[in-house]
Amino acid sequence: MLYIVATPIGNLKDITLRAIEVLKSVDLIACEDTRHTRILLDHYGIKTSTTSFFQHNRVTKGQYLIRLLKEGRDIALVSDAGTPGILDPGYNIINLAIKSNIEITVIPGPTAFINALVLSGKPAHKFIFAGFLPNKPRARQNRLKELARMKYTIVFYESCHRILATLEDIEAIFGNRGIACVRELTKKFEEICRGTAGEILEGMKRKKPLGEFVVVI
Ligand code: SAM
Repeated sequence: MLYIVATPIGNLKDITLRAIEVLKSVDLIACEDTRHTRILLDHYGIKTSTTSFFQHNRVTKGQYLIRLLKEGRDIALVSDAGTPGILDPGYNIINLAIKSNIEITVIPGPTAFINALVLSGKPAHKFIFAGFLPNKPRARQNRLKELARMKYTIVFYESCHRILATLEDIEAIFGNRGIACVRELTKKFEEICRGTAGEILEGMKRKKPLGEFVVVI
């Protein structure tokens, strides 16, 4: 069985009893970054062996993991934060497992965009999760224009390096539409700013943006 195990997005306490049980009982834990996951495993006294599974070894390591699964081993897949498969290499092994007829299940837990969507106060019954927007300004603006045509709440991830440029684009494309910009969810400095992109930009220009962001429009 391949267990897709959600892990905390910032607060080590955000893990389920079932996730701990599964991480203790499997034969191997495939991690995006073994050193990062080791902090969590040590915190809960989990001694299971780990192996790395990340963007650049996903093909060879993916085949290796599938071989082990076919031999009858149980493997847990975790990512650096949140639910594997949501914008991390997890997607590749999940797909490979499905094609190889391997049984899979998800041990549910945190996902950053769900917290942000709920905290934003925007309608959550119809929303689009847009992942990361493109890096290049023209492509990012085009993606935002595409999203602006849809009558849904829009949620996407953003880094502290690009948040100011993205907010400027949102201001140009969405005008006064209310947005929420959420930072450092579940961590000590969790912060949520609600208002227009212009208003949020004002505040951010006074203090260098740090941490991980989710934007809700
Ligand atoms: N698998 C993860 C999930 O379930 O949410 C997402 C992984 S994606 C590579 C990483 C992005 O998620 C970050 O750049 C950030 O935008 C968002 N993110 C993850 N943890 C976060 C947190 N604690 N606060 C705000 N955003 C977070």
